[in-house]
Amino acid sequence: MRTLIRTTILSTVFPQLTKPGSLPYSQRASICCLRERANANPIVLNNNISRQLSRTFFRSNSFNGVTVAGSTHFRKPCAFMSTLPIMSNVRVLVDMDGVLADFEKHFLAKFREQYPDEPYIEVKDRRGFYVTEQYEKIKPDLKAKCLEIMEAPGFFLNLPPIPGGLEAVRAMDQMDGVDVFFCTASINKYKYCVTEKFQWIDNHFGAEFINKLVLTRDKTVVSGDLIIDDKPEITGAEKNPAWEHILFSTPQNSDIHKPNQRRLSGWKDPDEWKQIIDSKRQEKEMRMSAKQ
Ligand SMILES: [Mg+2]
Repeated sequence: MRTLIRTTILSTVFPQLTKPGSLPYSQRASICCLRERANANPIVLNNNISRQLSRTFFRSNSFNGVTVAGSTHFRKPCAFMSTLPIMSNVRVLVDMDGVLADFEKHFLAKFREQYPDEPYIEVKDRRGFYVTEQYEKIKPDLKAKCLEIMEAPGFFLNLPPIPGGLEAVRAMDQMDGVDVFFCTASINKYKYCVTEKFQWIDNHFGAEFINKLVLTRDKTVVSGDLIIDDKPEITGAEKNPAWEHILFSTPQNSDIHKPNQRRLSGWKDPDEWKQIIDSKRQEKEMRMSAKQ
């Protein structure tokens, strides 16, 4: 790994970079800390006012021909300067339904409650991405009943969290060099679904996480390094999405076997998802080194 850093006293640089309104803490220029490598822990030179820092900081700027970049993502003030390209964070897109929110469990409970005399499918026996398709095969009129449940007010709002998912996303959010976003789609009849997804994030993560919600019907056009999603095939307008699709294991995709597709078995073992992120970071570093 090539060294990105010159141990320059950035406090002499910051005042000239921090134009009012563009960089939020010009008066705080005495803060600086340097990182020797893009993936190394920041060396804190002065963190007396770190509590004042917001997450909104500049990502990169140019000063006297060198790139200067920094972020408060690291919870400590940090900055580094380099004449080399700056290694960007690993951006992780996390799906909601089936990954963070337990759609299948809640759906089955509602279905049995509303249609106690109809046949149903245990969660462990669900196969195929769309619940409507499997139920329709049992009885054609069940498709409409399935849709009625999903389209009802409160359905998406009351999805229970999948164990470990909330903690994992919060931990990702705290990781050096990682940006996490929610990337989720709405059902066709979106009247309640869309607003309830925002509300779900607010309820379980807090209002500040609303800024991380990407609601789209086409995830292929969203940029990221990784997308953790339980849908076996993510297709759309972009034939070569920027992200690597990590298939989140569920009963309904248990019969899918793609030799080159990595899986995440669940959230219970934090080492599993951390290893995936680390490997992606290493891959990005190698790609960057190869370009230099
Ligand atoms: Mg999903």
